[in-house]
Amino acid sequence: MEKYIDIVKNSYSGYANYLWGEITSPSWHNYFYWLVGISLFFFVLEAYKPWNKNQKLFRKDFWLDFFYMFFNFFLFSLIIYNAASDVVVNFFNDLLASVGIKNVVAFEVMTWPMWTHLLLGFVVRDFVQWNVHRLLHTVPTLWEFHKVHHSVEEMGFAAHLRYHWMETVVYRTIEYIPLALIGIGLRDFFTIHIFTLAVGHFNHSNIKVNLGPVRYILNNPQMHIWHHAMNLPKERRFGVNYGITLSVWDYLFKTDYIPYEGKGIKLGFDGIKSFPKSFTRQILYGFKAKRRNQQNI
Ligand SMILES: [Zn+2]
Ligand SMILES: [Zn+2]
Repeated sequence: MEKYIDIVKNSYSGYANYLWGEITSPSWHNYFYWLVGISLFFFVLEAYKPWNKNQKLFRKDFWLDFFYMFFNFFLFSLIIYNAASDVVVNFFNDLLASVGIKNVVAFEVMTWPMWTHLLLGFVVRDFVQWNVHRLLHTVPTLWEFHKVHHSVEEMGFAAHLRYHWMETVVYRTIEYIPLALIGIGLRDFFTIHIFTLAVGHFNHSNIKVNLGPVRYILNNPQMHIWHHAMNLPKERRFGVNYGITLSVWDYLFKTDYIPYEGKGIKLGFDGIKSFPKSFTRQILYGFKAKRRNQQNI
């Protein structure tokens, strides 16, 4: 146990140096500048050719989302990312070694060419995330945390990273297991992480790009806006269009739903009016849900 605590501690203290290094040394392998660059790219597109022209460039909650963006991407995504992956790798190795298995890699993916293992890792991870996202909507406790993301009332690129940090914990923990089993460490994921960041920004941005048939594979703003729709048909009340980066899972499993062009539809969920507006209260909301529900009974 102590060993795992040490691993977590080392990851956290190494992280402070890492973060400072990221900011002070721009490079092609630098998360910070990729986040800034990709955000600027979509900001310019939204300014130049907005899909919904009735929406301001600095839309409702723009600055709140801007804050969430850096908070989630740095303070939590990467910390938990680093700490969790070290802990999980060690835990897996120890567990397997205890039953006499020395090689954690179930399939020797790492010996394949780089692009094949990145592609496999990306597709597996995206499918796992699609399933986790469905859980966030169907498990009541998880939904209380996921409401933060659904409290977006006007769509824009920065809304992508408005979510509770508990989501990071849930996603990272669940997605790590299949990835570790196929021998892909989360830290090999730079390319995938940046690609999914860009598509996530795209999904939430107030722009329209005609993707043609590619829309059946890749998520996009015209599809994802329906994921945020306030009003859904009764039989789809738990949600639609759960896709994170790929839209193909929704088409395969019939959770796709684009009844008409969703420009300007009402976004949110029942009871959004009483949902907290500030960052701190939004972060505390999910933890208080249990008590709130007990009081209601
Ligand atoms: Zn959702
Ligand atoms: Zn979203």
